[in-house]
Amino acid sequence: MSDALPCLVQVAVSTPAHSAVGDLLSYACAAPLAPGTLVRVPLGAREVLGVVWDAPAEPLPLPAGMAPRPVAGVLEGIAPLDAAWRRLVAFTARYYQRALGEVALAALPPQLRELTPEQLARRMRRPAAGAAAQASVSATESVALSAEQESAAAEIEANPGPFLLFGSTGSGKTEVYMHCVARALAASPAAQALVMVPEINLTPQLEARFRARFAPLYGEAAVVSLHSGMTNPQRLKSWLAAHQGAARIVLGTRMAVFASLPGLALVVVDEEHDASYKQQEGARYSARDLAVWRAREQGAKVILGSATPSLESWHASSPEVGRYQRLAMPARIGAGELPRLRLVDMGQQPRGTAFSPPLLAAITERVERGEQCLVLLNRRGFAPVLHCHDCGWKSDCPHCSAHQVFHKIDRTLRCHHCGYAQRVPRACPACGNPDIAPVGRGTEQLEEQLAALLRNVITPERRAARVARIDADTTRAKGALEEQLAQVHAGEVDVLVGTQMVAKGHDFRRITLVAAVQPDGALFSSDFRAPERLFALLMQAAGRAGRDAQYVAAQASPPEMWLQTWHPDHAVYAALRRHDYPAFAQQQLAERREAGMPPFAHQALVRADARSQEAAHAFLQAAADAARAAQLPGLEQVFIFPPVPLAVQRVADVERAQMLLESPVRGALQRFLAAWQPLLHTERARHRALVRWLVDVDPQAI
Ligand code: ADP
Ligand code: ZN
Ligand code: ZN
Repeated sequence: MSDALPCLVQVAVSTPAHSAVGDLLSYACAAPLAPGTLVRVPLGAREVLGVVWDAPAEPLPLPAGMAPRPVAGVLEGIAPLDAAWRRLVAFTARYYQRALGEVALAALPPQLRELTPEQLARRMRRPAAGAAAQASVSATESVALSAEQESAAAEIEANPGPFLLFGSTGSGKTEVYMHCVARALAASPAAQALVMVPEINLTPQLEARFRARFAPLYGEAAVVSLHSGMTNPQRLKSWLAAHQGAARIVLGTRMAVFASLPGLALVVVDEEHDASYKQQEGARYSARDLAVWRAREQGAKVILGSATPSLESWHASSPEVGRYQRLAMPARIGAGELPRLRLVDMGQQPRGTAFSPPLLAAITERVERGEQCLVLLNRRGFAPVLHCHDCGWKSDCPHCSAHQVFHKIDRTLRCHHCGYAQRVPRACPACGNPDIAPVGRGTEQLEEQLAALLRNVITPERRAARVARIDADTTRAKGALEEQLAQVHAGEVDVLVGTQMVAKGHDFRRITLVAAVQPDGALFSSDFRAPERLFALLMQAAGRAGRDAQYVAAQASPPEMWLQTWHPDHAVYAALRRHDYPAFAQQQLAERREAGMPPFAHQALVRADARSQEAAHAFLQAAADAARAAQLPGLEQVFIFPPVPLAVQRVADVERAQMLLESPVRGALQRFLAAWQPLLHTERARHRALVRWLVDVDPQAI
């Protein structure tokens, strides 16, 4: 058969994870195919999507007597993916220790994998709605930048970057992004911009702002979104528009970093500190770090923006390192003040109070004046556990080393780790005691309690105060979050109870008080990043208050952020009181330098999941021993810690353990990991009780 097909191509395909098949497979075809061409090829008994890859220096060896199978079809209508995209994919695979084909295929819209070349050709002939929109409508007035914004924008214009835009919440960072996007797009008709946000639920607001500004200039089709909340056909459409250059602006979550953008001129990573930029399965990439890499590779500028930058980025932008250019915008637009911090010492309050009397009084007063309040509790459900006081029974998940959470609304016990749910028992399953009680509280309970406490509070419109809740449970249905946010914006809600979901990014205009009722938990976490996360979350939350300077000026008292804490003297809260991120960062970085932790060291985790802890440990230990025995390159600069169980060690009946690797030199860790891969595969084959293993480079949670 191959006699008739004189050409050989190397194709990246997604083979089963950890399979022994190499990254690229050889196929035969009639005429040469350009690298980046999308093809359909046979793989075992299936036919799959593949990407033609640059031929390796050495032809790939085929088993003796085997001829390469022919390419089954070419996706004609789609131009080959360019070299920059292929380099990004290859770098991601190499850096995060995954197969090239897996990363390449995961970076493409899922629907591309399913469509035959004919179906795709039909899809592409369909005119894109709004594509012909004329640039006749006049552009929405772009606002005049403040002096701070102007100076940041000028620096970005004049310098290569990367930039760290360190601007308080409400300082107008988004306006700076839009200004820079406008400049970049005006500079060349082929220029494209990529703007990333951490959460899907922040994309609608962002899209509305970008659409209002740019659709009149470049047409509706020029602004597209890319995130996992879209249907597969929508994602394919956005992806194609970006790939073909019709989309000038791509807004999206972390996955958008892999969009094919031949004209990429500017990348924005908003809320760059956010942990959701780190992918948590497959290739565990950091979209923020890849954005910086990609921008440099493609000659694009990159802006990382945050009011509370990651300590990695802060350090990179320090005078000492100078890898990023730091641009500060401390002032809020319209001279709006950041809220004053009020700490309630829970040690001085009546035992068992959820809402301290002073906080309740402050909320009541605001609601009576027609202002809105936001109450934050980072735990959903009614109570984290049910407890029998007679025999000590607890609502433990039978499949995990975790409690099942009590959800009162549908009277279920639900495990937030494996999803296992059951009806709440009428009596203690262990001793029959009918009096089993919830311990601790979640947002559901908070909402109920607040509604009861504010029962007699009347708003200026002479109606009873309304309490509403927004968390993952209330927003499961499509469109639910938008609807609930709209009610808040419309002033139909007086007190909003929610998880971190509502703390981020939303531009609430009438909220003047934000309260975190139980923030202490993170102060004593075993994860060294916990204080950083807590500080960022509380600063973000504080940023939801007093966003409208005019509105605030018209009110009787300034905006406030309340914290109920048992540790009012903690350094994290002291820095928060002064809104002093730089001081907080300096103190944290000093600790990290002392302890030799990131950003002063580089880490990777190897995780093993197995039927027993012993089996998971045995695999990790064997892998470490094999590395030492083989004296792998880089080993002399890599410290391998002993294996330990994960904090939640059993999930869905699988035992989990991990082993931390640390090195002061990134390159040494990378060399070591690359050389280690084959040994890990070999060990895996020897450890039958192992379910899976994975490597997490630059892990975000330890
Ligand atoms: P951030 O992204 O830093 O939180 P935004 O860009 O959302 O801040 O700006 C906060 C608010 O201030 C928004 O309502 C925005 O429209 C407004 N704003 C931003 N820049 C200006 C400006 N130069 N003039 C007037 N209003 C502005
Ligand atoms: Zn009992
Ligand atoms: Zn469970």
